[in-house]
Amino acid sequence: MIDHQIRALLQKTKKVGLTSHKRPDGDAIGSVLGLGLALIDTGKEVQMVLRDGVSHTFKHLPGADLIKRAFKEECDLYIALDCSDLDRIGFTLEGRNFDLVIDHHITNEGFGIHNLVDADAVATCAILAERLPLWGFKIDTKIASVLLSGIISDSIGFRTSNTTSKSLRIAADLMDLGADISTLYNKALISRSFEAANYWGYGLERLTRQNGLVWTMLTLEDRMKAQYPGSDDADLTNILSSIEEIDIAVLFIEQSQDKVKVSWRARPGLNVAKLAADFNGGGHPAAAGAEIQGNMEEVKQKVLSSTRQYLERFESDLQSIEEGRTE
Ligand code: 5GP
Ligand code: MN
Repeated sequence: MIDHQIRALLQKTKKVGLTSHKRPDGDAIGSVLGLGLALIDTGKEVQMVLRDGVSHTFKHLPGADLIKRAFKEECDLYIALDCSDLDRIGFTLEGRNFDLVIDHHITNEGFGIHNLVDADAVATCAILAERLPLWGFKIDTKIASVLLSGIISDSIGFRTSNTTSKSLRIAADLMDLGADISTLYNKALISRSFEAANYWGYGLERLTRQNGLVWTMLTLEDRMKAQYPGSDDADLTNILSSIEEIDIAVLFIEQSQDKVKVSWRARPGLNVAKLAADFNGGGHPAAAGAEIQGNMEEVKQKVLSSTRQYLERFESDLQSIEEGRTE
């Protein structure tokens, strides 16, 4: 969908419902808030909904207290942000389709009536930073702050391989609009609650390495013992992905007796989005996830075996290319 059509759609609507995926990360929260605050500023009635609410890490963002866990009233227009498929939202619109999907995942299924998917964008917040003015909205300091927070967290502080000079320029523009990068950076990526750090400990204790593969798990019991309030990984995946000389890091986060959330992180050149897609998940080449039915042991076995197979295939393909070159 092109900008003037989105502009017309947003301008004519009175009541807008915005949402993103369950266990929302910084980009999900930032993009819902960024578009939500822009719509509120132009006098629209806006409901912002995230099934799992806003995690402690992002409670400081302007407008975070406006985010609810369910829609209270029917809207004219529903928009899903930073979400590649309907399942990930965690609830349905009772028979209605999403009118517009705005996302940057290459695995996006195009589940909206209209879809704006830019897989080159470093974050959904970067798409909004570029396009809100084209849709007739002004980016004030509050909106600049939530968008920069999303860009910082999705790019893990401009460290992911999809970070480009363009993403840095967008971030610089948001700073010029008043966003305080050092505070937002610290809140999004560095500062953690005692409970989160304690929760990491349980996972780090079980850390296992086999060749280029590293993995560990967080159980429901760990979550309880650490008194960690969220059902996410408290960002332990980012710590796993910082281990040197690793091809792929995998984290298993127990959600219930028969459901496990899996997060993959890969070094540049590998593509874990393909692996996640085999388990009905998705994401980006370097960072992907899936929610998988089964108990921890079953899921661990299946995922590790397919991840190992992928790495072996990758190695042997690489070897045949090199052999071809030397022949
Ligand atoms: P994380 O591992 O941090 O949850 O997610 C890494 C990336 O994979 C993010 O871009 C996220 O949106 C995507 N992702 C994580 N879990 C799922 C899932 O269950 N389904 C899909 N489609 N994408 C996921
Ligand atoms: Mn994102």
